[in-house]
Amino acid sequence: DHLVNQIAAGEVVERPAAVIKELIENSLDAGCGQIEIDIEQGGVKRLRVRDDGCGIPREQLELALSRHATSKVSELADLEAVATLGFRGEALPSIASVSRLTLTSRAEEDAESAWEVSVGADGRLVSPRPAAHPRGTSVDVRDLFFNTPARRKFLRTEKTEFDHIEQVVRRVALARPEIGIQLRHNGKGILSLGASGGDESRVLERLDRLLGKGFGEQSLAVDESAVDLRLYGWVMRPAFSRSQPDQQFFYVNGRMVRDKLVTHAVRQAFSDVLHQARHPAYVLFLQTPSRLVDVNVHPAKHEVRFRESRQVHDFIYRSLHRRLSQGTL
Ligand code: ADP
Ligand code: MG
Repeated sequence: DHLVNQIAAGEVVERPAAVIKELIENSLDAGCGQIEIDIEQGGVKRLRVRDDGCGIPREQLELALSRHATSKVSELADLEAVATLGFRGEALPSIASVSRLTLTSRAEEDAESAWEVSVGADGRLVSPRPAAHPRGTSVDVRDLFFNTPARRKFLRTEKTEFDHIEQVVRRVALARPEIGIQLRHNGKGILSLGASGGDESRVLERLDRLLGKGFGEQSLAVDESAVDLRLYGWVMRPAFSRSQPDQQFFYVNGRMVRDKLVTHAVRQAFSDVLHQARHPAYVLFLQTPSRLVDVNVHPAKHEVRFRESRQVHDFIYRSLHRRLSQGTL
């Protein structure tokens, strides 16, 4: 089973940033309000994610580390909804099989203390012991790939690995302004984002922090709907666009995607209205019923497959075309 987990880890856990993505998604699924992320040496030495979510009760701690144990699929119908975020019960055991992992958690019902389990080098679970932790969960991942040297060899410099981690955190931070997020690298604060509390001006402030000063103020708000489709978010007025290739954020049902069809529709709208082909800057969210989209083409990639791709393309194009034409650009 340890070996099966390691093989799965090969697909799931390409690099430290992939670990962070899975751990953050678990924290979000747990209904947290705050996430603290501590990274050492680009994540290779240590990654720690701490949340204030629902926690894992003592008797489910070991289960959380076993393969295909997910608490999130109660019926088959759920499977589609769950498929939009992460996959099913593979992340923690996969990560644990290629690192030294400790899981500490306290659920509402753990009255006296928090509990902690860890995985030994042989893949065996050390049974739960009492620990100190407020309500919520910490996952501590040390020495990533220590037992898979081939994979370790593919890692880049500490800086590159950390850049990937920061990118993952930024993507989540843009999509979930209601969550407070702290990111530290080697003890140094990198991002400190307060929860928006539903306050629009604090949402715009976060956009500024993540995309550069002025984005919140200079951008144009978008919110367009059609049957089964809604597109909302912000596009940067081109006059202020810095034409950077890393200012394009598109989410489908909350999950960041990089998709040819989507990118084409957005670029086409920009170039038809503004007659220019610079990189448009945008943060856009597309909502559509999960039966009309498959975002799980590959868990670690960012593609989507729409059932009615032509319709989606045209909706995005028309929505942005209309908004850009109206906007006082
Ligand atoms: P999945 O997220 O697909 O269910 P994971 O391997 O990522 O699979 O997690 C396994 C289980 O561990 C989850 O279903 C959940 O019950 C529990 N879990 C993991 N992380 C957290 C967390 N941060 N807070 C609460 N529960 C968690
Ligand atoms: Mg998960």
